Amino acid sequence: MNSVKGVVFDLDGTLVDSSLDFDAMRRDMGLALDSSILEEVERMGGIRAERCRKVLERHELEGARRAVLIEGVASFLQHLDFHGIRKAIVTRNSRPMAELMLSQCGLRFDWMITREDGPAKPDPWSILSICEGWMLRPDQVAMVGDFRFDIECGIAAGARTVFFTRGRDHRSLPGLEKADYALESFSQTKELLAGFGLPG
Ligand SMILES: [Mg+2]
Repeated sequence: MNSVKGVVFDLDGTLVDSSLDFDAMRRDMGLALDSSILEEVERMGGIRAERCRKVLERHELEGARRAVLIEGVASFLQHLDFHGIRKAIVTRNSRPMAELMLSQCGLRFDWMITREDGPAKPDPWSILSICEGWMLRPDQVAMVGDFRFDIECGIAAGARTVFFTRGRDHRSLPGLEKADYALESFSQTKELLAGFGLPG
């Protein structure tokens, strides 16, 4: 198998933790607890959509302000830099909130795709655009994320997929069974790099 030459990360819950309470968000918007927030708001339109967008912004701003870097992320990113692996972020968050989280956590990425830029995950558009920009085939790229949309997006693009489980009960993680690799913690850097075909 080819070694990985580029890694696309989800932002919230993978690189940084803003402790967003999606169920509270759904409650404040009057949405069903199993609904996909962005898609629901998009569908409803009109005044109700406006009101829901304000709720979303309020939650996201509070989350972005309290965002912290997830343990082990800084050193993992350094390893990737050392090996010359390209890095990008694909997030369903808005650009202002995502930028705020990055600056709050001292992270710098050359390339970040946010929900303003095009179809959001699980649509594979973002990863495919990045592959094109990097001039890499999707199978030379890995998608790392903590939610099933990250894995579905990676699979649809033809990338390798890493589900960041972060100590959660595996039975509560739909999509995990489809991922190529389950990552408990970024302190498993050596194993993950080996999985990418790179020396630790
Ligand atoms: Mg996430």
